[in-house]
This record gives sequence, structure tokens and C-alpha cells, in this order.
Amino acid sequence: MTSPAPTRRPYHGSCHCGQTKYIAYLTLPPPTVAVDPHPGTTIRIYKCNCSTCHKAGYFHVRLKDAPNDFVLLSPTDPENGGLGDYQCFEKFAHWYFCKNCGVRCFIVGGKTETVDIDLEKWLGRESEGKTTKVWRPKSDGWVEDGGSYFSLNATSLEPKQDGFDLRGWAEKGWIYYLDMLGGKGEDRFGEPHEGGMY
Ligand SMILES: [Zn+2]
Repeated sequence: MTSPAPTRRPYHGSCHCGQTKYIAYLTLPPPTVAVDPHPGTTIRIYKCNCSTCHKAGYFHVRLKDAPNDFVLLSPTDPENGGLGDYQCFEKFAHWYFCKNCGVRCFIVGGKTETVDIDLEKWLGRESEGKTTKVWRPKSDGWVEDGGSYFSLNATSLEPKQDGFDLRGWAEKGWIYYLDMLGGKGEDRFGEPHEGGMY
């Protein structure tokens, strides 16, 4: 059996109540399935045993190219009260959450922007030239893991989308596990570090 070629497709996601809505391009299967592949070459799927990820039940999906792969359709002002914000540790990353239902759809650290874009064109569809206001990581100067950080929460993606099945991510062995709690272990496939979850 040969696995299908990596395909970049848009997927919809939201919080539970629907106040947070986004579209993200995922390239699946991941072009590279490896521990700590170079950011920008593949999507990275992992779970982390740090106290924040543990309490939030966070399932990391690091996009291949966050500024070009993600648009937040609602709210378009997450940092100005549109979403709740939680910061911990070095206060770099914003763990945004819906103020209504509490769901965390993404974490961001770095420059962002609210812009009018041609959403149909962005989705590769025929465009009538209509513009839509979106919020997204700012492409200019964005260096993933080099001062900029964006992580999507896989559990906020809508289930039952064509080509998207979270069961398969575990079954195919795409998930690797970080040891941020003690910071002692190597990132690895197969088994979470102490304090982590499958
Ligand atoms: Zn909500």
C-alpha cells in the first residue's frame, strides 16, 4: 500500500460556541514524519507534557507556513479583547481562548495583522473580488521558532472533514512527544514522557 502524496488543503475550525472561526491549510500526510523536523518544511504534530499543555489538553499542530496557512475569520481583534488571553512562563506566547465557551483554538507569539483579503482567491476558488477582514500571523519578518510561534489546536478543527480524521494521526504514528516538563528527555515518537498523554 502506498501512502498518498502530501496535499495542502483548507480545513475549517472553531471553538465550541462558534464565536471563534478560522480556516487553516494543512498539508497531509505530513511531508516529513520525523522528530523535530525543520520548521517550514512540514506540518508538525506533537503533544507536550508541560503543565500548560497538560491542563489545557492541548494538541499541537504546527503549520508549515503559519502566515500563509491560517486566517482567523472571527473575531478579527483577538488581542484587543476579541478573545481571552492567558500568558505564562516567559510571557511570549498568547494562549487565546473564547471568552464564551473557553475553547482554545490556537497559540500565537509574534507579530500579527488584521487585513482585508480576497478569501475566495486565498482558498484557490474563483473570485468575485469581494474582500473579507481576517486576522493572521504577519508574514513580514515571521520566522517560525525564531522569534515567532504559531500552533493550532487540532481538537478545534471540525470533525468529519474530507481528509481529516484525528484517529489516523495516532494510528499512522504522526504524533511525537515533547518533554518540556523536566526538559530532560529527547522528543520522541511512540510514547509520551512522564506527565504527558497519548
Ligand atoms: Zn466559543
